[in-house]
Amino acid sequence: MLPIKRRQQILSWIKEEETLRISDISKRLNVSEMTVYRDIKPLIDNGQVIKTAGGIALNRPKQQPGQMCSVCGKGLNPRLSVQIVKTDSLIEQFCCAHCAMLRYEKIKNDTAQIICRDFLVDTTISAKMAVFLLDAEIHLNCCRPQAIPFASVTDAEKFKKGFGGRLFSFEDAAHEIQKTMKENCCSLKT
Ligand SMILES: [Zn+2]
Ligand SMILES: [Zn+2]
Repeated sequence: MLPIKRRQQILSWIKEEETLRISDISKRLNVSEMTVYRDIKPLIDNGQVIKTAGGIALNRPKQQPGQMCSVCGKGLNPRLSVQIVKTDSLIEQFCCAHCAMLRYEKIKNDTAQIICRDFLVDTTISAKMAVFLLDAEIHLNCCRPQAIPFASVTDAEKFKKGFGGRLFSFEDAAHEIQKTMKENCCSLKT
């Protein structure tokens, strides 16, 4: 079997089984473990699989439909959802910036990156570079108080003209939301 064929075979197995041992792959393909390592290297390099002790595991796509918010358990709306990438490379998903900010206050020191989507143009942005509009008179149909992310301050200012509210950096918005949640003693379970 050609290396490319073996690689395709390994990929189809890993998609079905999610984890595979190197020794198993070597037996199934009837090739040496050295060859298996060589076959899987490109798959690891391009991020399709992750190396584990003695084997490989499927690297799940970051955004999958049907996943839940780690804070409130709501389903994820791709438009509003936020991801926190932690320093150990694990990713936590949130329904909206509100939940991400509540969580962030707890895992601040383990946070490597926060990814959200610009509310107007729907592009992926780093939350720490974004501005957040709080208390706007618009219902996003998610958690309240809500925080709406914008990549551009100009966009955010324009939006604010129409819908009111106040603009914050991520850190300040997170702090503000945390404060409001405490004052209102709402349903959030801690
Ligand atoms: Zn949530
Ligand atoms: Zn939410």
